[in-house]
Amino acid sequence: MEVIRTIAATFASCEAARGDGRTVGLVPTMGALHDGHRSLIRRARAERDHVVVSVFVNPLQFGDPADLEAYPRNEQADLEAAAVEGVDVVFVPTVEEMLGSGEGAAEAAVSVDPGPLGDRLEGASRPGHFRGVATAVAKLFNVVGPCAAYFGEKDAQQLAIVDRMVRDLSFPVEIVACPTVREPDGLAMSSRNRRLSPEQREAAGCLFLALSEAAELARAGERDTAKLVAVMAREIGATPKAALDYAAVVDDAFEPVERIEGPARALVAARFGEIRLIDNLRLPS
Ligand code: AMP
Repeated sequence: MEVIRTIAATFASCEAARGDGRTVGLVPTMGALHDGHRSLIRRARAERDHVVVSVFVNPLQFGDPADLEAYPRNEQADLEAAAVEGVDVVFVPTVEEMLGSGEGAAEAAVSVDPGPLGDRLEGASRPGHFRGVATAVAKLFNVVGPCAAYFGEKDAQQLAIVDRMVRDLSFPVEIVACPTVREPDGLAMSSRNRRLSPEQREAAGCLFLALSEAAELARAGERDTAKLVAVMAREIGATPKAALDYAAVVDDAFEPVERIEGPARALVAARFGEIRLIDNLRLPS
């Protein structure tokens, strides 16, 4: 496994692989790798010849400097996990390498507009977040070149925005959506989970519980999304140490819907102290 810190060497490695007729798979991450990330890496490993994992805590997508500062980082453990999964290249750029050095380094002058979807739900709670995501992901796609890129459904809105960006801007990239990996109690794995206190960790189970209740109602035939949203809000609202940010039901285009008439997804976001977690579940139709 090669550990590469520059854009030029990563591009050269992927170009060489493609020149040999090998397919390239990319798994973008912010590190602190857990089994959710590893499921994406395994899928890429199974489906592509040359697997690149990027580890970059992207300052552009953090509105709150304290959140960026507190984000877990463990490069050694990440490299070990990548090696175990048979990764070919780990791309670990510095902020300077990815975003340029000097004043305003964390504010690229040119950025990718994520479109209207970037302003809703997560985008409304975290202004500028999806512009930062889209800009960094677009850059990564240019660093790696034509490839299949693996993203988790855990971050469903991010996945929808990246998918739309690839289509609207004709990136030579195939987006592969991968299912959410969960803890035994249903909590979606997340690098942020390791910052939860034991009480907050227990409370965080309410996210999956809320989504499951909404799914159960939908399975029983409920089509009125206001009822589903109310059930989710009640479950999270009744959990000590949990503060609801939003509960919503959207269609495949991530538009809020009043009635479930096709593919739909329930989404929740809540705070547990300083730590904000999100989750979502496809609803049975
Ligand atoms: P992150 O490091 O949190 O930016 O995540 C990197 C990639 O891993 C994104 O595509 C996430 O959606 C995906 N991911 C994070 N957590 C999970 C999970 N529990 N299950 C599946 N994919 C995940």
